[in-house]
Amino acid sequence: MPSFIATPPNHPFPLQNLPYGVFSPASGGPRRVGVAIGDYVLDLALLEEVGLLSALGQAEQPIFAQPTLNAFMALGYEAWQRVRGAVQHLLHASTPTLRDNAALRQRALLKQSEVTLHLPAIIGDYTDFYSSREHATNVGAMFRDPDNALLPNWLHVPIGYHGRSSSIVLDGTPIKRPWGQFLPSDADTPRFGPSQELDFELELGFFVGPGNPLGQPIAVDDAHRHIFGFVLVNDWSARDIQRWEYRPLGPFLGKNFATSISPWVVPLAALEPFRCPGPIQSPTPLPYLQANGDWAFDIHLEARLQSERMGEPVTLVRTNFRHLYWRVCQQLAHHSSGGCNMRPGDLLASGTISGPTPDSFGSLLELTWGGKRPLSLPTGETRTYLADGDRLTLTGWAQGDGYRVGLGTVTGKVIGTV
Ligand code: MN
Repeated sequence: MPSFIATPPNHPFPLQNLPYGVFSPASGGPRRVGVAIGDYVLDLALLEEVGLLSALGQAEQPIFAQPTLNAFMALGYEAWQRVRGAVQHLLHASTPTLRDNAALRQRALLKQSEVTLHLPAIIGDYTDFYSSREHATNVGAMFRDPDNALLPNWLHVPIGYHGRSSSIVLDGTPIKRPWGQFLPSDADTPRFGPSQELDFELELGFFVGPGNPLGQPIAVDDAHRHIFGFVLVNDWSARDIQRWEYRPLGPFLGKNFATSISPWVVPLAALEPFRCPGPIQSPTPLPYLQANGDWAFDIHLEARLQSERMGEPVTLVRTNFRHLYWRVCQQLAHHSSGGCNMRPGDLLASGTISGPTPDSFGSLLELTWGGKRPLSLPTGETRTYLADGDRLTLTGWAQGDGYRVGLGTVTGKVIGTV
């Protein structure tokens, strides 16, 4: 599927992807919605203005000349399909409209290096699940009891907690080491100070499109009509604060100081070719969680670390979204099953995505087994948890035949607090 904008086979943003984002030109001007194609951003606000997105019909207000994607997310499945089809057509090698109009091309296609990216949505609510069986087993074994690592509810309920949306930050935002209360291992009273166990969590999240009225759950087989698209999520975690505070109500300050997301939202439609069977669910979930078809996705994921002394990053983790036990359709159906209303722009994250092998664990907590097995870096440095100056990058892609649908990257550099 060639575009007149050529992309090498390993490029994250070919014509098959077309992720949405919010940008402003470096030269100035308001925030607006665009689509990534190769190293460029296609300005959808401009296309809408000049009448090239008639797929939208007669919207009363501009959908793309907006500082966030919320309005487009709210339009729903049919509108998403029409716009995606129209943009794919406009960028196709055989379509002359943009290809042969140099003046329009110059206005509508901006180099990504010449724009500033912004948070893609106003995120009203953020929820983090705990859907990787391997992760839940590893954490349960370390925090509680290796013989009863999975709590008895885990195989029946997609466990999650309500997170904090105000501290969700975009790729590139420095991460300030949080201060908090924790119990040092050699003490019997807590202290307040900078976290000594700052960690990352490798996750994917999805944005909700149209919501549901309060009291009216989303059926599991309607999930595709409510899932707009996916981003990489780094759920930064202070393990010492988390360990001390989490009983009985779960994560709080150990998680709410920052959560980083990647800027480009990969639409569900771009991931359709990568559906695959996921882990077998046994016992069979209750009927409201039983979905038709495959709802796992074959998406390769990596986490990379670069300390201040390293010239290039080293890959710490290689895992895959397909390992996730609870599927995104089940997370959404479960979340709304009691009547909770979801809204356009809500972000639901997967929880740490760990695989079955030690090099596929999605956090330092697991990779170093609670700090007991330090990792060696190429410089000879060691790590149990993150040090000031460390840059942590998540990336991922679905591998097609000669192309990739990439999620891009999300990076954060840890800075100390003095
Ligand atoms: Mn998490």
